[in-house]
Amino acid sequence: MRTPTRGDSIPLLRLERSLMARRKKIYEGKAKILYEGPEPGTIVQYFKDDATAFNAEKKDVIDGKGVLNNRLSEFFMNGLTQIGIPNHFIRRLNMREQLVRNCEIVPLEVIVRNYAAGSMSKRLGIAEGTQLPRPIVEYCYKDDALGDPLVTEEHIAAFGWASQQDMDDILSIALRVNDFMSGVMLAVGIRLVDFKIEIGRVFDGDYQRLIVADEISPDSCRLWDIETGQKLDKDVFRRDLGNLTDAYSEVARRLGVLPNTNVTKPTLIN
Ligand code: UDP
Repeated sequence: MRTPTRGDSIPLLRLERSLMARRKKIYEGKAKILYEGPEPGTIVQYFKDDATAFNAEKKDVIDGKGVLNNRLSEFFMNGLTQIGIPNHFIRRLNMREQLVRNCEIVPLEVIVRNYAAGSMSKRLGIAEGTQLPRPIVEYCYKDDALGDPLVTEEHIAAFGWASQQDMDDILSIALRVNDFMSGVMLAVGIRLVDFKIEIGRVFDGDYQRLIVADEISPDSCRLWDIETGQKLDKDVFRRDLGNLTDAYSEVARRLGVLPNTNVTKPTLIN
């Protein structure tokens, strides 16, 4: 069981624990646990403090990360809803949990890149930070044992992971999410270098729809300060660049998701 973090109160922790004990766990991943939701078609997504990198070769528990990602994913998903991009988010339940729509995850990591970084820089020998001529969308097959290999639309179609219609929709969703996220970040002095989303299928009778699922948080984006180039994402953990929660808190503070603790209280004169 995790240790209490700033902002947790003890009674709330007890309540959280007793609720968790009664719930049926559906799946435990590297950073989240999924529980059966209170209504049919819903699940509860619990954000852990665990951080992993390099296909879980590097692991740590980062106090407070889950709380920040829960809030940030809520913020981004609500923004997507505002501009009509369907997504799984229903409502936040507490500090670490949110209620989301149950969906069938398409077994692809959909990556959108605006600047070269990470695996693309290594693969193609392009210096990190080089602006790409246009956003580039890549697909990786979700399989931890294989290390999530890069695949083409040919593989996706041939192996039936998604239809051509799905791929058209996924591309359009990915580019819209990119425009939204780039704009939101730019407004607070952050460059959206790249990010990963996952897509889920929901069924309304015979009709199938694709929605943004999983999470959108600094765990799954590269975020650089526009002025200084400072990294404000999971690379801080991957590359041992400092305190991860400080970086995520900075993103949350700039977006107004966390109160600005640096603001001095107004004082009355006379
Ligand atoms: N990413 C992710 N989960 C993964 C792989 C990548 O969230 O399993 C994100 C990563 O944080 C980055 C983007 O996708 O924002 C592109 O990652 P990249 O392919 O460069 O891989 P990495 O260098 O992180 O191994």
